Amino acid sequence: MAKKIVIIGAGVSGLTSAMLLSRDKDYSITVVAKHMPGDLDAMYASPIAGANYLPMSDRENSQYEARTLPELQRLASHVPEAGIHHQRARLYRREADMPTLRQGSNGFNGMFLENPWYQEVVNNFVELEVTPEMTAAGIAGGCEFDSVCINTPVYLSWLVGKCRANGVVFKRGSVKSLADARRWWSSSEKAFAEAKEKGEEGPADIVLNMTGLGALKLGGVMDQAMVPMRGQVVVVRNVAPVMFGTSGTDDDDEELTYGMTRAVGGGTVLGGTYQRGNWDSQPDAATALRIMQRSIDTVPELLNGTGKKDITGLEIIRHAVGFRPYREGGVRIEKEKMPDGSWVVHNYGHSGWGYQGSYGCAEKVVALVKEVSRDKAKL
Ligand SMILES: Cc1cc2nc3c(=O)[nH]c(=O)nc-3n(C[C@H](O)[C@H](O)[C@H](O)COP(=O)(O)OP(=O)(O)OC[C@H]3O[C@@H](n4cnc5c(N)ncnc54)[C@H](O)[C@@H]3O)c2cc1C
Repeated sequence: MAKKIVIIGAGVSGLTSAMLLSRDKDYSITVVAKHMPGDLDAMYASPIAGANYLPMSDRENSQYEARTLPELQRLASHVPEAGIHHQRARLYRREADMPTLRQGSNGFNGMFLENPWYQEVVNNFVELEVTPEMTAAGIAGGCEFDSVCINTPVYLSWLVGKCRANGVVFKRGSVKSLADARRWWSSSEKAFAEAKEKGEEGPADIVLNMTGLGALKLGGVMDQAMVPMRGQVVVVRNVAPVMFGTSGTDDDDEELTYGMTRAVGGGTVLGGTYQRGNWDSQPDAATALRIMQRSIDTVPELLNGTGKKDITGLEIIRHAVGFRPYREGGVRIEKEKMPDGSWVVHNYGHSGWGYQGSYGCAEKVVALVKEVSRDKAKL
């Protein structure tokens, strides 16, 4: 009989795991989540992200990001409905940030390193030649490479569609605890309603915890290592010729400058902030002004065709805030046996790299689910 699985969470982690697992007819999967694609809420990081592929790990922890790139490239080349396109990325390392970058202690770890590990996996990587203009602007160096940019609302909906085609059931709900999660399984919405009526819903064999920052409050997890890493962005109609990122700013240690034009008319996301432990879910007007100013300073082509030379040339679609699900000590992907003998597989705490590591992490989840399924079969 197929193993009954409940996945808590419909962000990129839960949906990628659901899609990969649902290819195997040995599993019958229900996804339950407070937030679903279509919602905008700071606690739901996935739709707020740009998102692009700018690796953040160091070489030692690069397996998830290294493994994910080929799949994102394949989708960009061959699956237009996934909402991903190829884009060139340009990163600048500022002279002022070099000491912290060399210690690897600026929170983005590998992204701005000289000679990064990822030059071995991306295409057409080049170190930038430092021009007198760059030196005058305080830029010590940088690089360019072929990357991808994901229109996240389109991509999340595409993932839901792939899951539905494979028979995954979706339910909206707040799960109180890992134990509570097991009762959310059902073979269909209708079967769930009928079983609930009779008090017979669930239970699942295996629970997958993909709750992002929600792991801080979820009963049975309550992971105190989880911290919001607040990201504020401005989404505009203007187009950037490249994706860009700068290692720091003169404005604030917890701000950075980046931008990317999403595929399929998704607008251009300008960032941003990286504010640790900041729970403010509302956009701050002064921060937004700084983000826009730095963006046009870095890529003046954003104003092409507007006839303007300042931020009034940026046509704003919306302001947004999302909490990156940061975890002290790194991502948690592991299995855990519950006191009643049932299994939980965790996959949360991806901070700012949830998309660019999504396939690597979901493949590990699949391997762990296979392991615990075997164990369960023995019991
Ligand atoms: C501004 C910004 C820019 C970013 N840019 C990038 C980028 O360029 N590239 C990149 O790879 N990543 C980027 N990220 C990071 C990326 O968005 C996250 O790492 C990723 O979305 C995390 O996905 P997740 O599925 O683990 O969590 P989330 O997307 O937060 O989803 C969590 C899910 O769990 C559900 N949930 C939580 N608790 C419960 C509960 N008790 N009961 C039921 N459901 C629950 C939620 O409702 C939600 O469905 C960015 C993030 C932000 C905010």
